[in-house]
Amino acid sequence: MDFSIDAKLRDRLEVERAWGRERVRPAGLEADRQGSPLAQDHPYFQDFVARGEGRTRWHGPGSKGEVPPPGVVVRALLVSEELAYWDRGVIVASPGPGLPEPNVLALGTEEQKERFLGPFVALDRPRWACFAMTEPSAGSDAAAICTTARKDGDHWILNGAKCFIGNASRADWILVQATLDPSKGRDAQRSFFVEKGTPGLGGFKIEKKMGLKAYESTSFSLVDCRVPASNLLGGEARYERRAGFKTAMRTFNAGRPVIAANAVGIGRAALDEALAFARNADRLGDPRIRDRIEALARRLRMARLCCLRAGWLADHGKPNIVEASMSKALGATVAEEATSLGMELLGAVGARGDHLIEKLYRDAKAMDIVEGTGQIQRVIMARQLVKLPRS
Ligand SMILES: Cc1cc2nc3c(=O)[nH]c(=O)nc-3n(C[C@H](O)[C@H](O)[C@H](O)COP(=O)(O)OP(=O)(O)OC[C@H]3O[C@@H](n4cnc5c(N)ncnc54)[C@H](O)[C@@H]3O)c2cc1C
Repeated sequence: MDFSIDAKLRDRLEVERAWGRERVRPAGLEADRQGSPLAQDHPYFQDFVARGEGRTRWHGPGSKGEVPPPGVVVRALLVSEELAYWDRGVIVASPGPGLPEPNVLALGTEEQKERFLGPFVALDRPRWACFAMTEPSAGSDAAAICTTARKDGDHWILNGAKCFIGNASRADWILVQATLDPSKGRDAQRSFFVEKGTPGLGGFKIEKKMGLKAYESTSFSLVDCRVPASNLLGGEARYERRAGFKTAMRTFNAGRPVIAANAVGIGRAALDEALAFARNADRLGDPRIRDRIEALARRLRMARLCCLRAGWLADHGKPNIVEASMSKALGATVAEEATSLGMELLGAVGARGDHLIEKLYRDAKAMDIVEGTGQIQRVIMARQLVKLPRS
């Protein structure tokens, strides 16, 4: 494995570092202080789109956007880590086809790619899309979702409720995970495109969060929500046994190393801030403090390498389920350790609630929860290691 950074990537990281310092961090602090997500018409989003960001990897009919050339995943992880260093909430808030894009690229019909990714080829305005799996009574156990889909002529009718969905109220479309029969578990799951403004899609409520306040996490309901038959991801022919559930899991497998990279970014920011604080307070002469900072820097390096390895495997088309889970579990844990050590060094200053480390401490917690909790990652790894068949 070669994780060396060539001149092109170094330049790109420099550009992102400057953008992060000048635009991402201030936007994140603004949202944190106001205690609510950045508004859809916030100048940050306009400028983000103007710099050519937020576009789809799909490049038009017949394109092979779904097969990235080797190296793309590792490079994307390094960029993602750098941006999360400045503010992970702002990164998630940023426009783009987001979490569902890998599934649409891999499984969508050409017509669906054109309809749903086409507007993201060259953005005329900030646009969002999102993926809705979690329900009030189905989080870790994604097979237990109760949102139903019933065929009615040329349409599907969806009923149910989703919660904690990133960017849902501002999304042009939501990829909703639903079941044809809740008693049949994961075999009966399907993904549906539900467009903004579809009658029956509503009740949007932005949840209160302890951290990552720059982006909205939203609950909503689907009440007799009719979508055309053509909105079933991949079309009916696609669904052999368990394809629907596998489709949703693909989203998570692609996302876990990204969460790990983000967590490493948060951890690095906390370490840098803690070091600066300890230096200013003249504490670095104490070997106990130096030892703890060294141990943390070492763990952050480990988490980063683990994440890059998961990316390298993806880049080379090799299975990475264990590494993806390992990187996510480790990255989130180390981010919590880093912010916790930072808070400890701050002492009473941290308790005031206005230091960046205190914000990072609140931001880091969600990294263990999103896209499968740390405990669920450990369950996945253990099952793989002992070669237990899927239940
Ligand atoms: C900031 C944020 C953003 C999110 N964004 C999205 C989004 O965009 N789309 C989306 O669909 N969802 C999203 N979620 C939801 C997220 O995926 C769920 O919160 C997560 O899957 C955990 O589910 P839960 O909260 O219901 O916890 P639960 O499943 O109730 O788990 C509670 C605790 O029990 C443990 N546990 C549960 N089952 C087991 C088991 N079998 N073995 C051992 N331990 C277990 C868990 O590890 C956890 O510690 C988001 C959540 C947050 C916090």
